[in-house]
Amino acid sequence: MIIALGVPGAGKTTVLKSLKGGYQIVNYGDLMLEIEKKEFNIRDRDEMRKLPIEKQKLAQRLVADCLAKMHGKVILDTHCSVATPSGYYPGLPFEFLKLWKVEALVYVTADVEELKSRRENDPTRKRDVDDISMHDSLNRSYLAAYSAFSGAPAVVIYNHNNRLEEAVAKFQALLK
Ligand code: ATP
Ligand code: MG
Repeated sequence: MIIALGVPGAGKTTVLKSLKGGYQIVNYGDLMLEIEKKEFNIRDRDEMRKLPIEKQKLAQRLVADCLAKMHGKVILDTHCSVATPSGYYPGLPFEFLKLWKVEALVYVTADVEELKSRRENDPTRKRDVDDISMHDSLNRSYLAAYSAFSGAPAVVIYNHNNRLEEAVAKFQALLK
């Protein structure tokens, strides 16, 4: 499994859509949303991070178990950490990370102003626009921790505005 991480609006889903090589792209948030819609009456994915931590963790665990059973080439589209009202919460707690065979951890990011404008201009989502700099910086610490724990290399890819092809080419080069 290759894991793509980054703050909301970094462009993970957009970059992954353009990759070739027969990888199955799995979006952690989409799978959690299915569970949370059924169990906790959540309506859209931007409400998920506001659920009590224990409920988020339950859904996170169910998805982690499901991922551990997957075969073949998978790219996981997920978050390094989630900004919840109770604080930053790890996207990949070690108890889940240890269940998977991770080849690389790829952190997708951009300049803070670029991230801010993307969040403001994306009509499909309701992302918060505060504290992007803090979140991006904390995420890099989480990335290093995940890398040290799993033994998988950490890669940082910049997805600058209107230079999507460059980010896709760098990501593509990592795939076998
Ligand atoms: P989330 O974690 O919230 O799912 P994400 O990292 O998957 O976010 P995307 O949904 O892929 O982010 O992209 C966020 C917005 O930024 C979208 O409107 C997308 O079209 C735009 N975007 C992505 N990459 C670029 C780029 N290189 N230049 C300009 N706009 C971009
Ligand atoms: Mg996405």
